[in-house]
Amino acid sequence: MKYIVVTGGVMSGLGKGITAASIGRLFVDMGYKVVPIKIDPYINIDAGTMNPFQHGEVYVLKDGTEVDLDLGHYERFIGEEVTGDHNITTGKIYRKVIEKERRGDYLGQTVQIIPHVTDEIKNWVRRVARESNAEICLIEIGGTVGDIEGMPFLEAIRQMHNEERDEDFALVHVTLVPLDAGGEQKTKPTQHSVKELRELGLHPDVIVGRCSEKLKPSTKKKIALFCDVLEEAVISNEDAEDIYEVPLIFKREKLDEYLMKKLKLEPRDSRKEWEDMVKRMKTLYEEVSIAIVGKYVDVRDAYLSIKEALKHGGIEAGCKVNIVWVDSEDLEEVGDFTLDVDGILVPGGFGSRGAEGKIRAIKYARENDIPFLGICFGFQLAVIEFARNVVGLSGANSTELDENTPHPVIDLLPEQRGIDEKGGTMRLGDIEVTIKPGTIAYSLYGSEKVIERHRHRFEVNPEYIEKIESKGLVFSAYSDGGRRMEIAELPDHTFFFATQFHPEFKSRPYKPSPPFVGFVKAALKYRREEEI
Ligand code: GLN
Repeated sequence: MKYIVVTGGVMSGLGKGITAASIGRLFVDMGYKVVPIKIDPYINIDAGTMNPFQHGEVYVLKDGTEVDLDLGHYERFIGEEVTGDHNITTGKIYRKVIEKERRGDYLGQTVQIIPHVTDEIKNWVRRVARESNAEICLIEIGGTVGDIEGMPFLEAIRQMHNEERDEDFALVHVTLVPLDAGGEQKTKPTQHSVKELRELGLHPDVIVGRCSEKLKPSTKKKIALFCDVLEEAVISNEDAEDIYEVPLIFKREKLDEYLMKKLKLEPRDSRKEWEDMVKRMKTLYEEVSIAIVGKYVDVRDAYLSIKEALKHGGIEAGCKVNIVWVDSEDLEEVGDFTLDVDGILVPGGFGSRGAEGKIRAIKYARENDIPFLGICFGFQLAVIEFARNVVGLSGANSTELDENTPHPVIDLLPEQRGIDEKGGTMRLGDIEVTIKPGTIAYSLYGSEKVIERHRHRFEVNPEYIEKIESKGLVFSAYSDGGRRMEIAELPDHTFFFATQFHPEFKSRPYKPSPPFVGFVKAALKYRREEEI
């Protein structure tokens, strides 16, 4: 097993996750099986209870674990699906250690960070690497070198480095190279953060310098000299127009060759699908604009996977997707409004804030024949909108939003009532969905059985299905033997499609999610017709 560890210095938000995922991609292109592990030094067990305002999107894995959005980058870049085991947090490690202590496994010893916590970290990493049958294990350590929370993990990595052969281990350190007022590239922050790393007994093999522009040869030389790495091991990672270009930047910088040399490996393949995808992406000349109507529109990355899936749909449909952020609460306050866009997307969400604004956006899309895609909460609100305004069930709602609604068209199934604790009872992860032939859903997926990821608690109330369908909204897919509705569509609309599941989590740049492809294609058609 070869281990590549990615650490970060100077500050957070440098794109360490993208760097790690891009390195993973380089090895995939060279014909290697890569497995990622993300270490999040926070004390939470997982990201399920974390607020998107603070933390960005919660990404859902196939086994239902709710994780940091970096795992999404890994799945999209590397193309492998991972499980909750691939996300290690301080909470998970300490829980294990404390369980062992209570069971008496430590035989009366004093339980300490070194060796007990560090052993647990090393065991976890090695077990996941072994069980995945991969050849390259990519480990990203969240946070910045020097953070108190990260110390036990860096210490565990230091020990691992000593225990593994040198040719099986590479450390990549990502730092910031800022420009001063005169536009000069400054290396001091990098020098300081490498010094910090070395005080912990770790020596970087590669330094990736994040900078708004390409690193100059003189900058690389200086970093190499002061940080004790070879000049060819200083890699420029300048701002890219799109994150998917980063693997190509690394190729230009010959990072793949350097790491191969360090790890004593030979390339077995030179796969081109990533490069081809980026080329296609860069030559799109048509554009569509899509409104995302949500609650967290001001938060960078709160709807990251949706943004990425729209991009994937665009690459397939042949157009660039421009996103217009619409705050759903604003739509509650205005009188009549227009949205000058080619498609409207209502994403997942929880709670009543802004919900009526989202319902207004859905009504607007339905009545004006504008392409619409609803996801999870967006699906539920589309059903509510239809029930109220087409079926005539005044006051129809979800019991999540109004417990006393006269028409609970969205409700908990009986077995879920009463056990509604935060983080506890959600329906999460991969679930098989059955699609009815002859529907839009079937024409998009081309299959009767698909597996999609879920993250919700409420369902379409079975008592209302017949009434709703009699007025034209078709439930074209279901799960759980027909007890739960999974897709709703309007056959007479230009494109009106909503899913109870989250198709965005399985969308890949070169394998886009069918609902997103259908939606962006419809938006492009709409745009072209508008222009005539
Ligand atoms: N709040 C809704 C539910 O719990 C939708 C969840 C979501 O959009 N992820 O069912």
